Amino acid sequence: QAKTAGGNTLRFFNQAMQTSLIERANLEADLHHALARNELALHYQRQVDHQGVTIGVEALLRWYHPQRGWVSPATFIPLAEETGLIVPIGYWVLKSACEQLAKWSHQAPYATLTISVNVSSVQFQQPEFVRNLEGLLAQTQAPPGRLVLEVTESLLMREPKRVRNTMLKLRAQGIRFAIDDFGTGYSSLSYLKRLPLDELKIDRSFIRELLTDKADAAIVDTTILLAVSLGLTVVAEGVEKTEQLDWLKGHGCYRYQGYLFGRPMPIDNLFESY
Ligand code: C2E
Ligand code: MG
Ligand code: MG
Ligand code: MG
Repeated sequence: QAKTAGGNTLRFFNQAMQTSLIERANLEADLHHALARNELALHYQRQVDHQGVTIGVEALLRWYHPQRGWVSPATFIPLAEETGLIVPIGYWVLKSACEQLAKWSHQAPYATLTISVNVSSVQFQQPEFVRNLEGLLAQTQAPPGRLVLEVTESLLMREPKRVRNTMLKLRAQGIRFAIDDFGTGYSSLSYLKRLPLDELKIDRSFIRELLTDKADAAIVDTTILLAVSLGLTVVAEGVEKTEQLDWLKGHGCYRYQGYLFGRPMPIDNLFESY
């Protein structure tokens, strides 16, 4: 009896694994064509200051699959990273962001907004990364000082010297750097003093239960103090409630991003009411 059940269970898992492998292969094949078929789009989410004024936006990639509908970045970004497709896709994201910045640079209320772009470590470590980005800035005439590159702790821990050199070259052009999802990676804090960072984004997993979880509150409080004393701008991610906003304001964090201020959306919708 038990043996039969075991056999069935095994068969069940094999079936499931096979399905998910096929599924993955299909998705991967489709992702190869997504750029050329115009299925990728950038949505933008506002970042606001303590008065609720929009100071910038984060560009967030969206994939509209003709059969599956919207595919979550949590699904396709890792796939794009594993296959190297993140390189052309990431280039397209940077190009779109630069074009948007260039357009805004001539329009009064938008000229001071920044655009933050997520850069995957695979993309960042390409030998051509600096040259490509400099090329894009020259080609689009985007103001480099309005571009913020969001990188993760895992990138900063990898090949520290090379990463630092790349960052310094881009910093010399005026490009700024934010550390994304701060507190979720395995890392020593020493990179905070070694690397040319401008901004620290507190991961939304710490903000979610900020008001009820004492440990989260302690982590957020300490992170704000750390960022401020290092001269970094601190941004709280995932702010959904007024109570979270009030707590953050009271603890010295003056920049926020989250559903309380708006979801990511197409750029034209974002500023309908600006
Ligand atoms: P991220 O860079 O940390 O982006 C913030 C994520 O939090 C976004 O998820 C956003 O929609 C979500 N979010 C914002 N406010 C709230 C809130 O109040 N509550 C909740 N529950 N969620 C909120 P999204 O768009 O699904 O993106 C997920 C991740 O995918 C991003 O996390 C980023 O790591 C990656 N990603 C997105 N676009 C790109 C891209 O162009 N290139 C690369 N390399 N990665 C990207
Ligand atoms: Mg980000
Ligand atoms: Mg984040
Ligand atoms: Mg992230």
